[in-house]
Amino acid sequence: MTEKSDIYDTVIIGGGPAGATAAHDLAESGRRVVLLDRAGRIKPCGGAIPPRAIRDFAIPDHMIVAKIKAARMVSPSDVEVDMPIDGGYVGMVDREFFDEWLRSRAAEAGAERRTGLFKRYERDESGVNTVHYDERAADGTMREASVRTRALIGADGAVSAVARQFLPGDDRVPYVFAYHEIIRAPQQSPTVKYDSQRCDVYYQGTVSPDFYGWVFPHGDTVSVGTGSMMKGFSLRDSVGELRKAAGLDEVETIRK
Ligand SMILES: Cc1cc2nc3c(=O)[nH]c(=O)nc-3n(C[C@H](O)[C@H](O)[C@H](O)COP(=O)(O)OP(=O)(O)OC[C@H]3O[C@@H](n4cnc5c(N)ncnc54)[C@H](O)[C@@H]3O)c2cc1C
Repeated sequence: MTEKSDIYDTVIIGGGPAGATAAHDLAESGRRVVLLDRAGRIKPCGGAIPPRAIRDFAIPDHMIVAKIKAARMVSPSDVEVDMPIDGGYVGMVDREFFDEWLRSRAAEAGAERRTGLFKRYERDESGVNTVHYDERAADGTMREASVRTRALIGADGAVSAVARQFLPGDDRVPYVFAYHEIIRAPQQSPTVKYDSQRCDVYYQGTVSPDFYGWVFPHGDTVSVGTGSMMKGFSLRDSVGELRKAAGLDEVETIRK
């Protein structure tokens, strides 16, 4: 059991966009910050960032893998409506690299990065929290560790373990199961419903009964995915059908 006795200003659980940005901003303003992320999972996400957010969060151009000029909405009855992006573009990022870049930016601003799985926290009478986690060592082995902090931020996603401990009994937060496949960007052709500067959003029951499916360009690759809150709904079959409908079924799959 490792006990790190220093009391930090803030410990942030979760190094996705929310946690990494909070860590960056707090470290930059002089706080002593630990950013704890379990690492190893790439979030299935379209990766579309609107122009305002690119500006406000200072996302550099080299993180943007595609610049989107329009979004196409496909209705349940197959009607297609194109919506131009006024005054610029929507920037597409690849979450595999984007999230890691955000965490590195936080570290450069002074946040201390740790890799591990949050387990629980307790708060003493003086308001100091002890956060317990399983730390992943460089050789991949796990060991129990803890860190003390005045403030704790739970940024560990939709099924946040921090939130579940903080709000016991409230397990009803709705969330979507998502799945996407990364495929090679196809040549543009009349049989392929794809444009490297357009995001296609499918609102069709076969693609998802309660969410939407997407075909989002990411430069050399494309993310084709869907989501649903319904547990039994086969996201893989649905993405297969979506790829067929868009003429993308024969295109090389890079990652499932
Ligand atoms: C299908 C789908 C498509 C989407 N498309 C878009 C889009 O195109 N554009 C857009 O802006 N948004 C999109 N979103 C929303 C976007 O993905 C989320 O808003 C965003 O990821 C939330 O960021 P976050 O940092 O709060 O959480 P997350 O991105 O979920 O990050 C949580 C982090 O916490 C870590 N973590 C979890 N549990 C623990 C633990 N116990 N201990 C330590 N670390 C832990 C995880 O590893 C992860 O790094 C999409 C979402 C879905 C589901």
